[in-house]
Amino acid sequence: MKALRFHNARDLRLDDVSPPQEPLADQVVLKVLQCGICGADLHEYVAGPIMLPVKPHPVNGAKIPIILGHEFSATVSSVGPAVTTTKPGDRVAILPHLMKLGDYYVRRNLGQFSATTGLVGLAWHWGGMGEFAAVPEQNVVKFPDIVSDEQGALLEPSAVAVNAIDAAGVVVGSTVLITGTGPIGALVALAARAAGASKIFVYEPNASRRARLAEFDGVAVHGGSSADLVEAIQEQTDCRVGVDASIECAGHQGALDLCVEATRRTGTIAQVGLFVDRPKIDMFKVCEKGLNLVGCWGNDITLGPRLVAMIASGRFPVERIITGRVSLKEAVSDGFETLTRKDNDHLKILIKVD
Ligand SMILES: [Zn+2]
Repeated sequence: MKALRFHNARDLRLDDVSPPQEPLADQVVLKVLQCGICGADLHEYVAGPIMLPVKPHPVNGAKIPIILGHEFSATVSSVGPAVTTTKPGDRVAILPHLMKLGDYYVRRNLGQFSATTGLVGLAWHWGGMGEFAAVPEQNVVKFPDIVSDEQGALLEPSAVAVNAIDAAGVVVGSTVLITGTGPIGALVALAARAAGASKIFVYEPNASRRARLAEFDGVAVHGGSSADLVEAIQEQTDCRVGVDASIECAGHQGALDLCVEATRRTGTIAQVGLFVDRPKIDMFKVCEKGLNLVGCWGNDITLGPRLVAMIASGRFPVERIITGRVSLKEAVSDGFETLTRKDNDHLKILIKVD
């Protein structure tokens, strides 16, 4: 089968590899349909290996060259004898965290924080940028006909977004600020809307991304000075207190400062964007305002059915972040290369694998 494998930075190759054999007892073999290119894949492409194991992964033994792709939909082609929740022919999406049974965090449904956790498409033998993949049963999420293959491929980044909404404590009527609208920020905006937020303020310095987000219902998009946005937020919140929650998706100093400024006393800031440089934070203000500061890292894999139900209901139109579609052959030239260009304003490029 054809598979896009990471060999080194700027060295992805469309290799011929043998497809997975008969699945192990608790595994399923998948025929991949659609696979998204994620920011993590891009980081690996430009500067990797970062998360990709150079030495065999301590739990599953995978190491580079590795088939990329952790955001994908697929059809189940065969299942191991112990598999009970899915059967050949089912359309599924994957949530990629590979949990080690018995681990302290895994037992508490916090497996994304375990040092032993691997990831399909990053620290595993198979990924969504190959025609077939084998994964444990616990990593597949069935979806109904009403959910498209493309929507299915967006389940993983959608899980990150909904996890952030939960972490930020967004409930019906909440006022929310979102900084940075790459694919995750855009999904967070859609998820905030689905969660019933009453006011959603978005800060995005890139004009064409702003234009895209302005098409989302119920989202007020800003790009000017932070001071102007803080003023606008105060004007539009009860007693000028600021937003109940901020979700920082840019990984940027200015954006973090804006969140500290714009969040009301005793509100919450959820940090989703990953910083390259270590930011400074005004801890005096964090204390004085009684802010809750929470770090977000992936999601728990039990979110799957809830996400599928949200997408199927039409209230979480995740497909709105798709801005490009390529074949597996074109994935490097028209996917990875395009996304690394500074002037690109893409949100999500999907690879049609089948
Ligand atoms: Zn990802």
